Amino acid sequence: MEKTDREKLDAITLEGVQEYLRAKGATDSCMSCGSTSWLFMGHNDDGLFFGLPYGKLRQQDSTLLTTHGRARPVLAMMCYNCGFQRIHDAFVVGYWLDQQKNKEG
Ligand SMILES: [Zn+2]
Repeated sequence: MEKTDREKLDAITLEGVQEYLRAKGATDSCMSCGSTSWLFMGHNDDGLFFGLPYGKLRQQDSTLLTTHGRARPVLAMMCYNCGFQRIHDAFVVGYWLDQQKNKEG
């Protein structure tokens, strides 16, 4: 049965993100210090996701109108060694991981 968007996001693991990064040709090493030890900043363990707020631009001056609390879920990760932070779109990663599982059967 097709998973819901929420289920795809909840199924994301740190190991899954590293698998995703390697498959996409992105480094899973810290861009700052080279460590491969990452921590999720608020994900799964406490049911929290970080998000980037989004909203409509005003016609006149292109400032952002109120977002009404809407945000795009992101995977915020912090290097355990030096504290460098990186983010990836949670839907992009979650959908890719779900597709891989479906391929495996
Ligand atoms: Zn680092």
